[in-house]
Amino acid sequence: MPLGVHASIKEGFAGALKEAIKLGCECVQFFSHNPRGWRMKRPEKEEIEKYHSIRKHTALDPVAIHCSYLVNIASPDATLYERSITLLCKEVEMARTLGASYLVLHPGSSGREGKKMGIKRAVDAIKRVRKKMGMDVTILIENTAGSGTQIGRTLEDVALMVELTHNHNTGFCFDTAHGFSAGYSMKNAEEVAGLSELMERTGLARALRLIHLNDSKAECGSLADRHEHIGTGKIGPEGIRAILNAPLFKDIPFILETPRKHGLRDDVMNLNRAKEMIER
Ligand SMILES: [Zn+2]
Ligand SMILES: [Zn+2]
Repeated sequence: MPLGVHASIKEGFAGALKEAIKLGCECVQFFSHNPRGWRMKRPEKEEIEKYHSIRKHTALDPVAIHCSYLVNIASPDATLYERSITLLCKEVEMARTLGASYLVLHPGSSGREGKKMGIKRAVDAIKRVRKKMGMDVTILIENTAGSGTQIGRTLEDVALMVELTHNHNTGFCFDTAHGFSAGYSMKNAEEVAGLSELMERTGLARALRLIHLNDSKAECGSLADRHEHIGTGKIGPEGIRAILNAPLFKDIPFILETPRKHGLRDDVMNLNRAKEMIER
């Protein structure tokens, strides 16, 4: 399976590609702008051209854009909801400009109104974005750790959102650390097989397009989103090995979103650990 990392856009989009190439990635993910800011300035034409001229000479596939953390399409607050839809439209446009296959989206937090309404709002928002922006660039709904009032904690809920938007070009991005914190243990081959079965049962297996491979600093069921280096967290080496070798995940691209305290050195270490564990 293609293996890659979440690269930095500190040096622009071309910089993110260069980083991925330097690390020997086969696929890559990056943000389209500062994910904690609402402002999304259009990049200069030269920057986009530079990006595409580098991209042309790489085999990086897929390229995924991770959506802003501010987008909350499950919000009961009308202003935040509309702002989120507007920003999501811009994210789709940037993903298109950058020739990305996927736009990874957290389904958001439902606040006081609860899960059911949150899911309805998120589904409606995706449909509105599609109507305005067209159908290209697959939107991947990522499972969440479920902290606070986040929706998308259970695979059944993610499956429902994917099902309700399936003719609006959506799919599923599975984050292992989020899943683990949400209560899905995956510490060994048996547990990973159980998880695969659940994905088959809920229909998510068919919708799965991308995996975020992260170990978890937080315990199973803690609902805390804290990523850890490959094999040194609570999922541990046996669990990560089982995930990397699970038959269901065989052709799915894996992206690492592991900590970067020592910059690229950490990515080199985590990529090497993952590669050593792949048995096929
Ligand atoms: Zn994410
Ligand atoms: Zn993730």
